[in-house]
Amino acid sequence: MFPEWVQFEKIVKELSRFGQIHELGTVKTKDNEFPLIALSFGSKDPKAPVLGLFGGVHGLERIGAQVVLSMLQSFSELLLWDQMIRHALEHIRIMFMPIVNPTGMFLNTRSNANGIDLMRNAPIEALEKVTPLVGGHRISPKIPWYRGPQNQPMEPEAQAVFDLSKKLFFESKSVITVDFHSGFGVVDRLWFPYAKTKDPFPHMAEMYVLKENFDRTYPNHVYKIEPQSKNYTTHGDLWDYVYDEYQKVNSGAYLALCLEMGSWNWVKKKPSQIFSLLGPFNPIEPHRVKRTLRRHNTLFEFLIRSLVSYQSWSTMSDEQRMKNMIRAKEHWYE
Ligand SMILES: [Zn+2]
Repeated sequence: MFPEWVQFEKIVKELSRFGQIHELGTVKTKDNEFPLIALSFGSKDPKAPVLGLFGGVHGLERIGAQVVLSMLQSFSELLLWDQMIRHALEHIRIMFMPIVNPTGMFLNTRSNANGIDLMRNAPIEALEKVTPLVGGHRISPKIPWYRGPQNQPMEPEAQAVFDLSKKLFFESKSVITVDFHSGFGVVDRLWFPYAKTKDPFPHMAEMYVLKENFDRTYPNHVYKIEPQSKNYTTHGDLWDYVYDEYQKVNSGAYLALCLEMGSWNWVKKKPSQIFSLLGPFNPIEPHRVKRTLRRHNTLFEFLIRSLVSYQSWSTMSDEQRMKNMIRAKEHWYE
């Protein structure tokens, strides 16, 4: 079995008495079957603010799953002694799904065992022209970024993410999810929707206030915060889909973030990595892995605080909202 799965199974066992385990289906390779598992902790109030952390959507980007597992590991220790976390959990809910695509991680492929890219598989058509292939295609599962056949239900992994989201936060008015990826650029980017269009994100005012809080509180943080569409647009983005469906039923604020770790930096420091299967997407060198695993702790802490103090970004008067929308537009869309 692959090491991240072994680590995850162990944590699940240890944490079962503190939280809820969600079994969201199973997926198979030729010889193995994997349950799709998520964990949640804290308030059972459906309206409580929610933080969701996801990883391992792309099987080659192992570092994403490793970062979420490392956060889950620290969180499991905090549960044992930290009163601040215990108080926080009376008010908010935190969910973890560190390995969304276990068959892809097992097989060392970007896609799942059916050759389908889970970030191109949602029933979403881009509103503008996308980059050929990378933006999602229906040519063949042998080419990366394959969306899956037309008019088919979503793959079980994508459906699992959607079902979990619906169950745990579609009634909440303050939600932030982060999905951890790697493989693009030299800096760590925090992307917000959309992937389907360059049009402004409806919650850009809330996003802007959250960014301002982050910049002021941690002026040396490492992230470039921007709409995904600034870099490229795609068909079938899973988080566009979750976000749009949330918006149909809830007038609250939901920020669906993707953290795209700047893997070109790792390659720059050790160019031979480019010739290995995992090299372009992962830090590989042990000291660089360690550095990456601790790099995002500040973000984790900031997000927990931002959900406990959700009023600081998700609740605004109409006037404040309008002001922040104008600022957001100037900052990101002009
Ligand atoms: Zn990815």
